[in-house]
Amino acid sequence: MSWLRDPGAAARVPGDGGHAVVVGGGVAGLLAARVLASHFDQVTLVERDPLPEVLQARKGVPQGRMQHVMLPRGQQLIERLFPGYGRELEATGAVTLRIPADALVLTPAGWLDRSLTGWPLHSASRPMFEGVLRRRVRDLPGVTILDGHHVTALLTSPDRRQVTGTVLHQVAGVDDSATRELVADLVVDASGRGSRAPAWLAEAGYPAPTTTRVDPDVGYASRIYRIPPGFRADWQAVLLTSQPPSMPRTGYLLPIEDGQWMLGLMGAAGQHPPTDEDGFTAFLRSLRHPVIADVLATAEPVTPVRAYRGTANLMRHYERMASRPERFVVLGDAVCAFNPVYGQGMSTAAIAAETLDACLSEQRRRYGAGNLDGLARRFQRRLARRNAEPWMLSTSEDLRFPTTTGMNVDLATRLMHRYADRLQPVIIQDVGIAEIYLQVFGMLARPTTLFTPRVLAAAARAKPHDASASGPTAGLVPAPAGRPQEGSR
Ligand SMILES: Cc1cc2nc3c(=O)[nH]c(=O)nc-3n(C[C@H](O)[C@H](O)[C@H](O)COP(=O)(O)OP(=O)(O)OC[C@H]3O[C@@H](n4cnc5c(N)ncnc54)[C@H](O)[C@@H]3O)c2cc1C
Repeated sequence: MSWLRDPGAAARVPGDGGHAVVVGGGVAGLLAARVLASHFDQVTLVERDPLPEVLQARKGVPQGRMQHVMLPRGQQLIERLFPGYGRELEATGAVTLRIPADALVLTPAGWLDRSLTGWPLHSASRPMFEGVLRRRVRDLPGVTILDGHHVTALLTSPDRRQVTGTVLHQVAGVDDSATRELVADLVVDASGRGSRAPAWLAEAGYPAPTTTRVDPDVGYASRIYRIPPGFRADWQAVLLTSQPPSMPRTGYLLPIEDGQWMLGLMGAAGQHPPTDEDGFTAFLRSLRHPVIADVLATAEPVTPVRAYRGTANLMRHYERMASRPERFVVLGDAVCAFNPVYGQGMSTAAIAAETLDACLSEQRRRYGAGNLDGLARRFQRRLARRNAEPWMLSTSEDLRFPTTTGMNVDLATRLMHRYADRLQPVIIQDVGIAEIYLQVFGMLARPTTLFTPRVLAAAARAKPHDASASGPTAGLVPAPAGRPQEGSR
């Protein structure tokens, strides 16, 4: 590959060609590669894992074994970048359903009305969401995927004002002889929560970005089950939410490829689902309704229980850096990672790709082809604005648990909690408001939609919701065939 060179080879002046490098082949990196392919002649995506041909979890994405829901906003944006993505998911075995028509959804105030329009959902394992994307990226002209290579540092111009590429090691032999340099006009870091970009910047003489970490102490556990042959119900999925602050436990049961269910259990405020059989079953039984536990009592587990803990909300403030090198941007979980209970990560990665696309187009229009001066600052600022809403939704909900660390509950957050408490029963009683709530939950509408006069008026009329009135399973009795009884939703 002409962009690869051994250390000591003649330096190449950035800007005389069109080569972009993406660090990390997760969802954010794949979407960034797609966007960059429209702006650069060549794109190289560097991934440290050897990438599997088949759809399977891999070491570099440990969360890949956990349940993943792709919200409709992410699905829409990906469909725009890769037309036919949804159809390919279906052809590969993803299950198509509608939320809430095909699901039992227990919100903090009660069961969601299943006659709502809601939105469609492709339900699949995380390796499928990523693997189908990777297939599409491999087919893009001008894009090379360099797997089994680990980026260890940034290359910079002699005055360190520009990033000019990356240093790579082949994963199989991390010694000096395996070192390569990959020269580039733009480097995009999409290496996830564990991104080393702050350290790379420090090595180049720049201050590391400040970080905000809001930690509700959420533990995850997931397990795959075979759907029993002959199983019949009028639902395909069950979503039992937590009821903060008194009930921090959540359980989602979703159908995935190959006739399987993926169970996801999540516990905030340190109430992590155990991984031993008895503890796991007891946690499942302690959810707000027994429907999932009842249904799984006769289902055959396909995998052991797997746990995951790295779930804190994490924001690296690249937008606030007083000085930065040109031609280096950061996106995806490497900038902003969420408590995953709200399912925002992949959609936010898609929003980041859309933002990068818009910034690159604007850059070309305003400053001409090949001029990337100022792009890094403009992109990080715009991305921070786009990340602000999902961040606010996730952290303000997490701050309902008094044990959450990293941010004070200020007056605005307290008022938000009071307002949300008033709104919850309205979502159960008023289908119009419920549709709006679902649009916000699916990231299809902005959270400010919940503050329009119509919604404010409905909330003002509602009686305050007493969250302590219903503990786990209180007032909810499993109905025949696993359906909630009439009147309980
Ligand atoms: C438990 C859990 C459950 C989740 N559930 C959901 C959900 O339901 N819905 C949802 O939308 N999101 C969910 N997410 C979030 C989602 O996984 C991510 O937000 C999304 O995939 C974007 O991640 P990313 O591509 O930025 O990073 P990652 O997926 O972490 O990918 C980073 C990639 O970079 C590679 N890499 C790292 N360092 C280097 C290096 N130095 N050189 C080369 N390669 C490198 C890694 O191997 C990896 O492939 C969940 C997250 C967790 C933790």
